[in-house]
Amino acid sequence: MGTEARYAEIFEAKISITVNFIIWLIRLIIGFTIGSIAILADAWHVISDVLTSIGVYVAGKIASKPADREHPYGHGRVAVLAELFISAVLVLVSLVIVYEVFYGIFITEFLHEIAFYGIFFVIATAIAKELMARWAVSLGKKSGSNLCIVDGLHHRLDALISLSISIALYIGIIFNIMVLDKLIALAVVAIIGFEAFKIAKNQ
Ligand SMILES: [Zn+2]
Repeated sequence: MGTEARYAEIFEAKISITVNFIIWLIRLIIGFTIGSIAILADAWHVISDVLTSIGVYVAGKIASKPADREHPYGHGRVAVLAELFISAVLVLVSLVIVYEVFYGIFITEFLHEIAFYGIFFVIATAIAKELMARWAVSLGKKSGSNLCIVDGLHHRLDALISLSISIALYIGIIFNIMVLDKLIALAVVAIIGFEAFKIAKNQ
């Protein structure tokens, strides 16, 4: 792999981490404000992507270091531990969301009156992700980095997921089927669980 591709990947990881972190904050605030578990789950899905990017970043930096006296087999094992840790965090987050769906500890009421505005902001974050997807794909093509393209396509998939969640919530509000909020949250948990599984399986 060329140096240009390598630089592009590190740059893409940094941008991804920053943008996803901001999106996480926005969705967390919206989720708590309007009382939507689905939006909160979607917020945590973004954190799963932040952790994945950090994993890629750290793994790339550490695993490439040569073996030394303390690490006679190289630094690859640190990356393995980092990824297992990430998977564990995702599993924990998933469990908390499932618990929230059934027992409602943090969220007690869905506020219909302001939910429309909240969904508007969620759609805005989905558009931001789509823009990031386009940027990452073109960066990957220019620099010859497959990793950037793959990550870009992941951003696009996430944008589509958030858009679907927004539409479903909108329908739920209009027809007053609020159980949709919980069902969507469970679907997002399945996605997070799948990503955790993918990361763990890479070992
Ligand atoms: Zn994702």
